[in-house]
Amino acid sequence: MIPVTAYRGRRVAVFGLGRTGIAAARALLAGGASVSAWDDNEASREAAIAAGLELDDLNRRDWGDIAALVLSPGIPLTHPAPHRLVGLARAVGAPVIGDMELFASAIADTPDVTVVGITGTNGKSTTTALIGHILKSAGRDVRVGGNIGEAVLGLQPPRPGAIYVLELSSYQLDLIESLRCQVAVFLNLTPDHIDRHGDMAGYLAAKERIFANQQAGDTAVIGVDDEYTSGVCARQKARTGLNVIPVSSQRLVSFGVYALAGRLHDDLEKKSGVKTVMELARAAALPGAHNAQNAAAAYAAVRALGVSVSDAVAGITSFPGLPHRQERVGEAGSLLFVNDSKATNAEAAAQALGCYHDIFWIAGGQAKAGGIESLKAYFRRIRKAYLIGQDAGMLATQLGASVPHVIAGTLDQAVKLAAMDAADSGLRKPVILLSPACASFDQFKSYEHRGDTFRQLVTDLLARATKGDAA
Ligand code: ADP
Repeated sequence: MIPVTAYRGRRVAVFGLGRTGIAAARALLAGGASVSAWDDNEASREAAIAAGLELDDLNRRDWGDIAALVLSPGIPLTHPAPHRLVGLARAVGAPVIGDMELFASAIADTPDVTVVGITGTNGKSTTTALIGHILKSAGRDVRVGGNIGEAVLGLQPPRPGAIYVLELSSYQLDLIESLRCQVAVFLNLTPDHIDRHGDMAGYLAAKERIFANQQAGDTAVIGVDDEYTSGVCARQKARTGLNVIPVSSQRLVSFGVYALAGRLHDDLEKKSGVKTVMELARAAALPGAHNAQNAAAAYAAVRALGVSVSDAVAGITSFPGLPHRQERVGEAGSLLFVNDSKATNAEAAAQALGCYHDIFWIAGGQAKAGGIESLKAYFRRIRKAYLIGQDAGMLATQLGASVPHVIAGTLDQAVKLAAMDAADSGLRKPVILLSPACASFDQFKSYEHRGDTFRQLVTDLLARATKGDAA
């Protein structure tokens, strides 16, 4: 845990007691502050009590002695309207901040601490984990967290030489004032979370705050493959002293890092010219063009931190991948089982469908608006679809006559049928792919629960098959 001493002897309100709120409350207490912790949700309050916190109903107390409000990133700050407690905090002049801002204050006195921040609409977790993996493999003292895994204040305390690699959501960036990322990565921007930011301009402005406190000599790594982030790149380049590295998975970018025709290119060193540093196919856990963007961004970030080309390439190659994102969960002969449960909408499923050619596709659950209409271009890669969950019928209608399909209903039924058909297909590299293009809540607690269930089903199936072989 990282103790926060900035509010020693004063009282701080912590509203929203999820993962980050609980960690923030503990860090404040450890640093000598008094904490008034509250959540309107009973289950969260119980979790906080179990974590040793005392509750104080912020809706009913006098706010006169509150020095700051630490807001959970899930709570509306501006849109659709500021939460009532945000208004109460402002009325008494208490700053409204998030856990990242507390973190910024907590590391301020330790010399030689580096913060690498990663944001974007898609690919944040992958790129964060990848940067962490490369740095760790290169022998650096690295801690990975934020919006992924451990809350930032739950990480190891700072010491000279430490590198914090932090995934930053737009909600978290809305709540920072002074956090400085020596290396800031902004991957991409597509419409999302508009309800919370008002409009695209608001969403973009929140994300662009990742660069706000950077100083001369700091590095901004910017994906330039969409219209929003290419504008960001132009704006940041206009700042003096900032080392701006453009990154692309679609085209050549001068003085940047780019992936073209399956290879990663480094044009960072003006004198030595462009170097082709690796074949991306060597990074088995990073398939597809979207991951090429993540790999290019991670490469640029670690090079800015002084990691050698060979260590960067070795780290990208040995990256084990993250669960539920095209995770290879089993192989039997030529059959490959892939868990892409994180694909909760068609756009995300498209990334996985684009990576394989003979797909036995498990999809379904709670469909998003438009269902799988936008996936038509990938239909020819699907040998057969196995549909599960509440909206299986709707997906079946959208597949129509162009893709053979069956309503399997449940995930275990789908795995059984898909594995059997794939094994009988005689195809060279059949892939049984769970990439549901739907939310999971009709049949599972979360996409993680769905993916874990799939992994277990595959493990059991393969164990049975091996036993059968041995018998
Ligand atoms: P995030 O943390 O931003 O949600 P993840 O790394 O967890 O991103 O990836 C989630 C899904 O988003 C992946 O399964 C993939 O379908 C898609 N994705 C990952 N990286 C990118 C990218 N750079 N561009 C577009 N889509 C991506």
